[in-house]
Amino acid sequence: MNNIVAIVGRPNVGKSTFFNRLIQRREAIVDSVSGVTRDRNYGKSEWNGKEFSVIDTGGYVKGSDDVFEGEIRRQVELAIDEADAIIFVVDVEEGITPMDEEVAKLLRKVTKPILLAVNKVDNAMREKDAIEFYNLGLGEYYTIAGMNGSGTGELLDKLVEVL
Ligand code: GDP
Ligand code: MG
Repeated sequence: MNNIVAIVGRPNVGKSTFFNRLIQRREAIVDSVSGVTRDRNYGKSEWNGKEFSVIDTGGYVKGSDDVFEGEIRRQVELAIDEADAIIFVVDVEEGITPMDEEVAKLLRKVTKPILLAVNKVDNAMREKDAIEFYNLGLGEYYTIAGMNGSGTGELLDKLVEVL
């Protein structure tokens, strides 16, 4: 199927929560404990009459930081290969981490549309905190709260526009 969207980002930023909201089923595994082996999840979604497939790149393996980072890198590279657009999710609670910077570095080289989603923006204060994510060098970002859906409409408007 055309219109493949991959959701990438380091563990615990809220990728699966957002994925579940997109596919409106509870199939992806969501948990707050990192270090669980998980496969990629696939689902279908639709916005403004446009259908697309979504890949939740949740899979990563428990292990040293090297293994961990290697796995995320592999997921991002796979996403870059097969997706038509990439949603890069980061976490406003944690701010920019070295792993976010690694992912951003890979994505900055890509010519496919990259949408930066600053997640867990649950209140107005966090809206201000999100500004630091300009430093990832990916341009404009979308503030969302995957948990309650706030802000996701704007992100999806943009997504179906670039697909
Ligand atoms: P993943 O590892 O990136 O797939 O992240 P998960 O979707 O498993 O979520 C990790 C944790 O972040 C869980 O405890 C979620 O409930 C929490 N979380 C996800 N979205 C939000 C949000 O919008 N706001 C807040 N406050 N927490 C969130
Ligand atoms: Mg996940």
